[in-house]
Amino acid sequence: MNTKLMDISFARKKAKDILCFQQTPFDVISFAKSFGFLVVLADVDTAVTIFNERTGKYAILYKELQDKYQTNQIIAHELGHIFLGHFKNGNLVKLGVCNEKGYDKIEEMADAFAEALLNA
Ligand SMILES: [Zn+2]
Repeated sequence: MNTKLMDISFARKKAKDILCFQQTPFDVISFAKSFGFLVVLADVDTAVTIFNERTGKYAILYKELQDKYQTNQIIAHELGHIFLGHFKNGNLVKLGVCNEKGYDKIEEMADAFAEALLNA
């Protein structure tokens, strides 16, 4: 297993590195689209990322929450999964060979990425 994938500080650094491309004012949806990801408002729980094998593109489906920051957070969280390499063959990798703890860890890392991205 790649230990970098388990490292929270790696998640934060990755967000900061990617922010070199940032435009001001920072808009997470435009930011995601600038990488060719589709970002679509949908009837989902919070957000979900889908990988289209045919086009090789990611689509982030998200729900508009009342709190704008929270909406940005859930989109940034999904970006975290993409940029931190949590997808393998289009599926979210469960680090630590499919145990609950491994799954929690990637959620924690995606949160750390989102926080670093939105609060840079
Ligand atoms: Zn997640």
